Amino acid sequence: MSTQDQEHFRDSIGTISEEGKRNFIHPKKPKGRFTNYRTYVSWILLAILVIAPFIKVDGNQFLLFNIMEGKYNIFGQPFWPQDFHLLVLSLLVGVVFIILFTVIFGRIFCGWMCPQTIFMEMIFRKVEYWIEGDRGKQIRLNKQAWNAEKIRKKLIKWTIFFLISFLISNVFLAYFIGSDVLLQYITDNPLNHLGTLINLLVFTLVFFFVFAWFREQVCIIVCPYGRLQGVLLDRKSIVVAYDYKRGENENGRKKYRKNENRNDLGHGDCIDCNQCVVVCPTGIDIRNGTQLECVNCTACIDACDEIMDKTGFDHGLIRYASEDNIVKGEKFEFNARIKAYTLVLIALTVFLVTLLFLRTDIEATILRLLRLPGQMFSTKGDIVSNVYTFKLINKTVNDLENIDIKLISHNGEVKIVGGNSKVLNGDLTEGTLFIEIEKKDLTSSKERLKLGVYANGELIETTSTNFPGPIQIK
Ligand code: SF4
Ligand code: SF4
Repeated sequence: MSTQDQEHFRDSIGTISEEGKRNFIHPKKPKGRFTNYRTYVSWILLAILVIAPFIKVDGNQFLLFNIMEGKYNIFGQPFWPQDFHLLVLSLLVGVVFIILFTVIFGRIFCGWMCPQTIFMEMIFRKVEYWIEGDRGKQIRLNKQAWNAEKIRKKLIKWTIFFLISFLISNVFLAYFIGSDVLLQYITDNPLNHLGTLINLLVFTLVFFFVFAWFREQVCIIVCPYGRLQGVLLDRKSIVVAYDYKRGENENGRKKYRKNENRNDLGHGDCIDCNQCVVVCPTGIDIRNGTQLECVNCTACIDACDEIMDKTGFDHGLIRYASEDNIVKGEKFEFNARIKAYTLVLIALTVFLVTLLFLRTDIEATILRLLRLPGQMFSTKGDIVSNVYTFKLINKTVNDLENIDIKLISHNGEVKIVGGNSKVLNGDLTEGTLFIEIEKKDLTSSKERLKLGVYANGELIETTSTNFPGPIQIK
């Protein structure tokens, strides 16, 4: 085969025909060791996804991302928009984590953990196999005219797809509005929550569109992580790879013939059966090398291992391997580079967890209010007075009662004239307060005050603010 012929696969992608139309992929149902492992992992992940919003830790939803109300719970710990810096840091750590993880382990995440792959391959595709049969039957059904059988099968499939999409939308909604609110909406008259219902249906249609039609295009065209693979992977990254040295040998692939000594003829172990291609959900031929479309789903590993069993060759012609593993014929090694990356990953993870759990539980903000434009402070005899607004955010999982604010740095009085003396967990209180200090206790015209916030007489947080007063002439 000429180099031009070998490189021909670069001119097209499996999901678009020569006329530029969508080539709908009908992958053969995968089966084998890795498919089984991935199925078990997907059950666990799906269970976590569905159950997580219904788990409570000290009354807080385990995971909550209520953007509308600015309430976020991570592992049952409430977070607020005021913790935005933590979110930004977490995202930065997350990005570095993903980059390092991908450099070492390639797209393992895509094949084993990505919700798109799990929903598509472990739920929707399985329903499709169940109703329409395996690859051959699906292709025949799609080609045949719209007779009773086709209409019945397609209608049943799309109805089930719609119902599953609706369920998925409900699960995601529980993450956004909270599982308690969701259950209340479900048991209430839907017309009382029309806006939420419309959003739910819109998301249901989006999921339906993605899993019934768009499918692998999400990974190939839309997903930014997929597009980044070209710059993240190197010769040492572990990917699903075809061992072309073993598969091609000196004289390339050749169809299998019993009792033929392929090694003597210089042919490799690939018997050109095409099973790794027909099983691929993104429609590529992994024998052409690592490609952007490959989501590391392992289906081709299982398909090829099955062929190796039948021909009597060793497993692993397609396997998890790096380019260097294949070229040098070395087994995968947990080498110094990977150890270093893994250590950095662990350090980053510890850093992130520490950041999440070592933040302050109470956030107190005290801001001075100008009474009248130009009026910096007021005096009554020897007393200088300033008015402030305050905001207390309770980020703990306990309610705070008998809230009081006192001066720590100066003698003087704090008079709270608004706000609640009790702040429920995850809630906030706002109000107004006056700070009064005798002139003799002030040393400058712009004093820095330190204040303590107390709950049930116990100091729970300190904060500071400015206190303007008359110019002191000593
Ligand atoms: S399944 Fe294995 S033997 Fe068959 S074509 Fe693919 S790589 Fe070759
Ligand atoms: S090439 Fe193999 S691992 Fe990659 S998407 Fe296709 S079947 Fe999955």
